[in-house]
Amino acid sequence: MSHGGIRLPPNVVKILYKWGLKDALDAISVESRSFEMDKYETGEVLGTHVWDDDIFTATGGTFLLCHHADLRQLLHDAAIEAGAKIHTGVKVVSVDCNACQVTLSSGAKLRADVLVGADGCSGLMSQAVTGKNVFGDASPHCLFYNTTVPVELMQRDPALADLCISKYKSFVWLGHNAGVTGFHLGGEAEFALHIWAQPSRYDYREGERCTAEVSPKEMRKQLGHCEPRLLKLAALAKSPARVHVKIIPPLDNWVHPSGRVLVIGEAAHPLPAGSIQSGALAVEDSAVLAKLFSHLRSEDQIPTFLYALQELREGRCASVVKCEQGNLFFQMMPHGPKQERRDNMLRNLVAKGRTRLSSGEFFDQWEQVKALFGYDPEDQADDWWIKWGILRERAKDRTRDLEERMNSRFSVLASSHNV
Ligand SMILES: Cc1cc2nc3c(=O)[nH]c(=O)nc-3n(C[C@H](O)[C@H](O)[C@H](O)COP(=O)(O)OP(=O)(O)OC[C@H]3O[C@@H](n4cnc5c(N)ncnc54)[C@H](O)[C@@H]3O)c2cc1C
Repeated sequence: MSHGGIRLPPNVVKILYKWGLKDALDAISVESRSFEMDKYETGEVLGTHVWDDDIFTATGGTFLLCHHADLRQLLHDAAIEAGAKIHTGVKVVSVDCNACQVTLSSGAKLRADVLVGADGCSGLMSQAVTGKNVFGDASPHCLFYNTTVPVELMQRDPALADLCISKYKSFVWLGHNAGVTGFHLGGEAEFALHIWAQPSRYDYREGERCTAEVSPKEMRKQLGHCEPRLLKLAALAKSPARVHVKIIPPLDNWVHPSGRVLVIGEAAHPLPAGSIQSGALAVEDSAVLAKLFSHLRSEDQIPTFLYALQELREGRCASVVKCEQGNLFFQMMPHGPKQERRDNMLRNLVAKGRTRLSSGEFFDQWEQVKALFGYDPEDQADDWWIKWGILRERAKDRTRDLEERMNSRFSVLASSHNV
């Protein structure tokens, strides 16, 4: 996929801040302070949500928007600084989980003590671990187009001026089997455009997951019946990437029976493309992995840590994946009584002058969002270590002591017998 905009909710921002990346992150991003929900077909404003400061204070993070390429560069530089060795332009063509070895397209073979597969939903690692092609075999739900629009071009068109008044405000369009999200990015002044379309007739090519660059004309056609601003944005947009969106639950097994191979990120729990939490869940997984492996003293701890990671993460990831799938259904709800109820609930809040989704009918949903943003994976990993990890190490020490004492008693007995 070519790069577009990525959303970073407070749960991931606080981890990156803790890792010392605050200044670097702030330099490439824009803070999201509010979003407006518009009707896809007409442009009618259905509602606005202004983020409460206390939700960010309570969760210890903030909501940032940035260019995916900038984020990737930032993480790359941080990894290098921390001592990682990164080989780019290298393709893994096969994986041997029992030998803990991968083969590259060059023919080179690499062996390791542990393999962590973070190669995305259509990578090889999840197939190697589970023996199934779970993502590849699932049918696509819809199409996702990922692109950006230069803000300078938007400012020249009076019809798009509203979208440029504040770079802190994002836009969500709710449509009949269609949805769009637009937000300003840090760095180069660009507006991210995420489009989800569920065409009634579309030839989903088997095996295709992501096509790096398709013609903007195709994307415009997929917009179908929509308000004029969306057509204008699409006309000014750069060539988009097209992705098949699949709705599937996380894998059952993230660890290969060898106990030496693990999958994390979208390789373990694919999200609908363009989800708010895609990048966040992958970083949360890495944070837990790092915490667990900070206690590594001997090789026999590796399988325990890999299984602990799945145990710690699977519940959280399953609920976030479900929530993101729900967000997509909410945004793309087909016309009918359910959609009318949704629109009327939003209109009601506007009529009452409310600018918080945390009030009224959406209260329960909002409590879930707060819990989602407030989650701290590093705390979970620390708790696991205190509750289980240390106990296991002590039990191991006791068994070793016992074995040593038994061995020395046997050798005393043996030597006295010899005497
Ligand atoms: C090029 C690209 C652009 C993206 N742009 C956006 C965006 O603009 N907005 C957004 O919200 N999300 C974007 N995403 C998705 C986003 O990065 C993920 O949803 C999220 O970060 C989860 O990351 P992940 O590490 O689990 O998987 P991914 O980010 O998908 O990373 C997987 C990595 O594994 C590599 N890989 C896969 N197979 C092999 C192999 N056989 N050998 C070697 N390497 C392999 C891929 O090249 C990729 O670098 C993009 C992903 C990619 C790969």
